[in-house]
Amino acid sequence: MRDKYCGAVDSNDIGKQILLSGWVFRRRDHGGLIFIDLRDITGIVQIVFSPEISPDAHSMAGELKQEFVIQIKGRVERRPEGTENPNIPTGMLEILVYSLKILNTSRALPFQLDEDEPNEAIKLRYRYLDMRRPEVQKVFITRSRVYKAVRDYLTSDGFNEFETPMLTKSTPEGARDFIVPSRLNPGMFYALPQSPQLFKQILMIAGFDRYFQIVRCFRDEDLRADRQPEFTQIDIEMSFVDVEDILRMGEGLVKEVYRTVKGHPWDMPFPRMSYDEAMERYGTDKPDLRFELPIIELTDIFANTEFGVFKKALAEKGTVKCIVLKGKTLSRKDLDVSVDTAKQMGAEGLIWIRNENNAFQSPIAKYLKEEEKSMMSQRLGLQDGDIVFIMTGNRQKVNELMGRFRLYIGERFDLIDKNLYKFLWVVDFPLFEYSEEQKRYVARHHPFTASKTDIRGFNGDYESLKSKAYDLVLNGVEIGGGSIRIHRKEDQFEMFKLLNIGEQEAQEKFGFLLEALEMGAPPHGGIAFGFDRLLMMLMGLDSIRDVIPFPKTQKGVCLLTDAPSKVAQKQLNELKIRLASDK
Ligand code: ASP
Repeated sequence: MRDKYCGAVDSNDIGKQILLSGWVFRRRDHGGLIFIDLRDITGIVQIVFSPEISPDAHSMAGELKQEFVIQIKGRVERRPEGTENPNIPTGMLEILVYSLKILNTSRALPFQLDEDEPNEAIKLRYRYLDMRRPEVQKVFITRSRVYKAVRDYLTSDGFNEFETPMLTKSTPEGARDFIVPSRLNPGMFYALPQSPQLFKQILMIAGFDRYFQIVRCFRDEDLRADRQPEFTQIDIEMSFVDVEDILRMGEGLVKEVYRTVKGHPWDMPFPRMSYDEAMERYGTDKPDLRFELPIIELTDIFANTEFGVFKKALAEKGTVKCIVLKGKTLSRKDLDVSVDTAKQMGAEGLIWIRNENNAFQSPIAKYLKEEEKSMMSQRLGLQDGDIVFIMTGNRQKVNELMGRFRLYIGERFDLIDKNLYKFLWVVDFPLFEYSEEQKRYVARHHPFTASKTDIRGFNGDYESLKSKAYDLVLNGVEIGGGSIRIHRKEDQFEMFKLLNIGEQEAQEKFGFLLEALEMGAPPHGGIAFGFDRLLMMLMGLDSIRDVIPFPKTQKGVCLLTDAPSKVAQKQLNELKIRLASDK
């Protein structure tokens, strides 16, 4: 139905007759001529209807409205001097139309494609219209190119691609499962996979050595800004490897994705940081390194302090930590707002000190000894105008609050260079973490993660153990994570014991893996990258919804199809399901 795509018409076509198909994008009438931007997936080209060239086509063109689908035949011409548009590839050309065929009409659209973005609800309800916008098309074309880049990169490195079941058993990522009733086994349910974790381990035991899958994962969590109930991972597993091998491979892959999206290579190695350092220095396991503003320890300086607040913190084995804001002038109001913000975050208080003319200005200045002030000045390298923000209390809590406060200060005072990309490997995660909800220690990554040290003969100090788990962070967002796995059954059982998972429960949930571990499981490990989030960040978009063709709203609703929806009583009967609300 066409000789070429609209965006592909070029100067070699000048003088030739051409057949094109596409959508009516913009239209301008002047001087008896009708100009239309004809659009398809590749771009736009200007077509011109003149009563002198074809009175029929010209009069039909009078009826064309936005988004009519048309086919035209015409001659490619150079545009008259002064009317060229250097901003588009076909901007030097136009097509004088001889004949026009209307392939389909369009009713008036709920929003104009070439105007400001419609609101989110309209956009998702009419996703197919939103997707006609060239900038949105570009996102999904890039997404498609990245699938290919990932596949090429990994297959040329010896990886085999697999598919693993969607109808499966609960997997161990610790979120809530989506479940699917089984008609053939009434009362039984499949779970949609939170990740293919156990299957990829099984594939290593099967001897495939290197596995990957670009795979949909499902987690029934409350949706925050960059979460979706179903999302895509680049899932990877390798045999006969240790941490170093996975990081090297993962880094190469992410650089390849970067190059594919950005069009230029990323040459620098990704820096590394231990989990402990990340927590102490940035108050989070995903530091945003686009700005420095480290959290600095002051506790030792105040070992003999007379100042009540510090004294109390130290007596409770707590900590005194600060960040230093340099080169900004803050009003008293700014300082008050900072204090309020810290309190809203959950801090008991926030102390500020302004260093002015080598003197501390602060509500607490008079309580500090000269020696303490000078040690602070030295450690923090204080200069005129610098502002120190201090928090005290339980170390973990101070780190966490300071981390959030650091991000607030970074945003509030424009310290974050939005053009930067700061990758970071965070390594040596704790093996366990305490779950307030379950009132016990749970696996920080998942229960198949290997410990860095031997856990046999464990002394009871859960927090002292480190794992062979790692995360990749980009600009303060986790974009990947994985671990070396436990590959011997004894170790896996030891781990379950520490997690208080009884033998029966372990058999019920993961029996197939445990059995496989007994039959020559090789050492193995892997990683999964959040495909949507990585794309969102590299393309500089605000929401994960922007890179997912048919995303769901915060309430998990698909506005295009209206899923989730009720089902027919017959379907429920077949599944032997009765709704509690029908009782
Ligand atoms: N299955 C893990 C996840 O989805 C990744 C991994 O350990 O490879 O987070």
